[in-house]
Amino acid sequence: MREWSGIIAGGGLVGLTLALALHAKGIKARVYEGVKEIKPLGVGINLLPHSIKNLAKLGLLAEIEKVAIKTSSLAYYTEDGKVIWREPRGREAGYDVPQFSIHRGDFHMILLDAARARLGPENILTGHHFSNFEQDAEGVTAHFIDRHSGKSISSARGDFLVGADGINSRLREIFYPDEGPPKYSGQMLWRGVTEMEPFLDGRSMFMAGHNDLKLVAYPIRAESAERGKSYINWIAERRIPADLAARAADWNERGQLEDFKSYFADWHLGWLDLEKLFDNAISIHKFPMVDRDPLPRWSFGHVTLMGDAAHAMYPNGSNGVSQGVLDAMTLADQLAEESEINAALIGYEDARREATAKISLANRQTGPELVMQMVRDQCPGNCGDIHTCIPQATLEEVATAYKRLAGFDKQTLKSVK
Ligand SMILES: Cc1cc2nc3c(=O)[nH]c(=O)nc-3n(C[C@H](O)[C@H](O)[C@H](O)COP(=O)(O)OP(=O)(O)OC[C@H]3O[C@@H](n4cnc5c(N)ncnc54)[C@H](O)[C@@H]3O)c2cc1C
Repeated sequence: MREWSGIIAGGGLVGLTLALALHAKGIKARVYEGVKEIKPLGVGINLLPHSIKNLAKLGLLAEIEKVAIKTSSLAYYTEDGKVIWREPRGREAGYDVPQFSIHRGDFHMILLDAARARLGPENILTGHHFSNFEQDAEGVTAHFIDRHSGKSISSARGDFLVGADGINSRLREIFYPDEGPPKYSGQMLWRGVTEMEPFLDGRSMFMAGHNDLKLVAYPIRAESAERGKSYINWIAERRIPADLAARAADWNERGQLEDFKSYFADWHLGWLDLEKLFDNAISIHKFPMVDRDPLPRWSFGHVTLMGDAAHAMYPNGSNGVSQGVLDAMTLADQLAEESEINAALIGYEDARREATAKISLANRQTGPELVMQMVRDQCPGNCGDIHTCIPQATLEEVATAYKRLAGFDKQTLKSVK
């Protein structure tokens, strides 16, 4: 391997993970983030065992453990609180690593601190919005602007360029200029966080409802649990036709209680006070559920796509970030093994493009959440406390098939060294 140096456009979760993965393999990289200051934004995300196994390899497990919640189970409920399907998660399910629920901002700061410490702060640049590139047989030159003024700031030369610049990726737009905005699913998400009494065992994630009206919630902060509380990340989801929904995917748009709260007025889960959950929210954001079509190609010469820029997917199955972590580790492995950049980028794409396309398409069919809609469609509604009309074996098959597809069934994970 020649001594390569890479350019990473985007200092989000995946761009920074890639920087750390490359550093671990002795490959130089510099991150160029568009915003002037990287802040701990967003709400909850899940880190599934396959990504945790890889983040542990990067020496990040102890830091994650300090701030996150070790998820013990995932359960699906009807809107009147009947259990449809419940399964243990992480170590409780026999994995050799935990599953974590974490504040996106907390995770982002862990990655940022580690990247600054390991690569040096001079290699994590902010205020550099990637605008364009050109490449030749030797390498690639990337150009950066100020994202507000549009004024040119600098150019950088490297052996390879990775676009980890998110769902509205500029690099993807250069490759696919006719693609247009992300695709709207028909569902609007109101995402909030509320600190209140823990529900269930204080470490559980649940989803309730069906395709037209759904609630997802899970606690995300260890510090709150240590005080006997739960810092609960929640997502209220309801169907809104495209012409009424704001189509732009802006993570920072504020949401209003009156847009969704009344739709849940008849819901009684029994162990979580929804009125309190919604009314006491520290923040509410609104975000249309959007994704992008799988692409026929990610890598062009010395340039490739990664994370949401390559495969933005619906959040069903909680896989977006975890798949980006797998991308980053795969590319670092390929670059460490191959003697040509082009071969490494193609090897990375071969390992990851189809695999993530299958998950994106499965998520369009609601992924593992299919069990909730099956009950909605097939159950006459006269079960007792526990839902019984669909055989457990059928529900289990849905859950297992998705884990296999997303690469976090126990069998697949055993092969990850
Ligand atoms: C502000 C924000 C809040 C989010 N909140 C949540 C959340 O609450 N829950 C959840 O599940 N997911 C959230 N996400 C999405 C989630 O983080 C991503 O799905 C996942 O992390 C994939 O990571 P990524 O690095 O590929 O993309 P992102 O996390 O979107 O990161 C992309 C990065 O690239 C930067 N960027 C964009 N364009 C350019 C450019 N041209 N040049 C240089 N840099 C550029 C962006 O500023 C960003 O830092 C959020 C994303 C963002 C940006």
